[in-house]
Amino acid sequence: MDMQTAKVKGKFFTVVRDGAPVVHITGKYLTRRMAEAAAKCWVAFHVSREPKRIAFERENCDRCGGAGTRTEGGWKFNDQGRCFKCKGSGRALTNEGYRAAQAYQKMRAERLNTTWGELADGDGFKYDGEYFIKGQHPTLFLRHESKVQRHDGAATRQMWKEIAARYKGATLEY
Ligand SMILES: [Zn+2]
Repeated sequence: MDMQTAKVKGKFFTVVRDGAPVVHITGKYLTRRMAEAAAKCWVAFHVSREPKRIAFERENCDRCGGAGTRTEGGWKFNDQGRCFKCKGSGRALTNEGYRAAQAYQKMRAERLNTTWGELADGDGFKYDGEYFIKGQHPTLFLRHESKVQRHDGAATRQMWKEIAARYKGATLEY
């Protein structure tokens, strides 16, 4: 990234280029330093950024019509009227989203499932839906062969990228 700051009518702005093409122009600032700081923030956020999550395609739930709850038709007496297909969120996975989510769960299991004994002290892991660090869970007793899932942010982000590249029903969110 190449940055050039210019002054127009007493205000500074910075132009960010990737080779020749302009990829970003900051707002106008009172000082050169402010414009350059804004440009650096933009680069840090947009260029060396990593996805924050993977999202699987959803649509309005066809059981409740997207409402999440319903009080007529006996629903009131069934889970307080909460839709059990979308769990009250009103949104359900599309077929594409479901395929992507299934593939992601399978990949996670293949790459991250391990046993407690295989982990080193200080390694993060998930057990029974909760996160722990090996050596720092005095109330949780696990055996050498207890099945856990390794908690590895870099490996997880890598899987997000692979799944999003391979499946239409998954997108990365930044
Ligand atoms: Zn629903």
